[in-house]
Amino acid sequence: MSQDFLRIAVQKSGRLSEDSLTLFKECGIKFDSKAGKLKTTSSNFPAEFLFLRDDDIPGYVEDGVADIGIVGENVQVETGRNVDIAKKLGFSKCRLSIAIPRGDSYQGVQDLQGRSIATSYPTILGNFLKENEIEAEIHEISGSVEIAPSIGLAHAVCDIVSSGSTLLANGLSEVEVIFKSEAVMIAHPSLSEAKRAILSKLLFRIHAVQTAKN
Ligand code: ATP
Ligand code: ZN
Repeated sequence: MSQDFLRIAVQKSGRLSEDSLTLFKECGIKFDSKAGKLKTTSSNFPAEFLFLRDDDIPGYVEDGVADIGIVGENVQVETGRNVDIAKKLGFSKCRLSIAIPRGDSYQGVQDLQGRSIATSYPTILGNFLKENEIEAEIHEISGSVEIAPSIGLAHAVCDIVSSGSTLLANGLSEVEVIFKSEAVMIAHPSLSEAKRAILSKLLFRIHAVQTAKN
């Protein structure tokens, strides 16, 4: 017997969290989002919320542990999980860019040939380099990527940029935008009919909220 509720995965704490929760609240969905709670059930909509690390969300949605989730497109593409994009959400906009030490000369992508680049996004970066026929060494690191050039770990970095202040503070300048991202709602590719009906209701409300804002 299928359970007729939607299990929704959202980021526990980070740059997606607040806007994700606000979106559901604007849709009239009531739930308790007390700090530290990892799971909560809505009191007026057939939904249960799971609070997780964003990197884990595409995997949970692919496996069907969660039915839908909200992540940055950057994370969805990087993980390469088989999920559907149910809706682009228009918040947490950012870009994935390559940056080099300020003052280093840069004429174009060919200048990356034979160089090393530190990143937490080896897949997206690898695809970009391949498309541009550049052979560069990818150093995968999970955080504080911008420090890499100054400690001699890599020539360049490839990381998420929004205002550019982190790059500036670390003496780097942005030379290539390789991916543009925003928050997206992802969905398990083969939801039951009952769950699909709940998702349609949710998407209808999100659409109404977005339309009212524009
Ligand atoms: P977690 O602890 O859940 O793994 P995280 O540190 O990986 O969190 P955040 O920094 O909270 O992730 O970013 C989550 C997502 O928000 C990113 O994957 C990206 O899509 C988007 N994002 C990242 N940085 C910015 C930014 N400066 N401005 C807007 N959106 C951003
Ligand atoms: Zn993360």
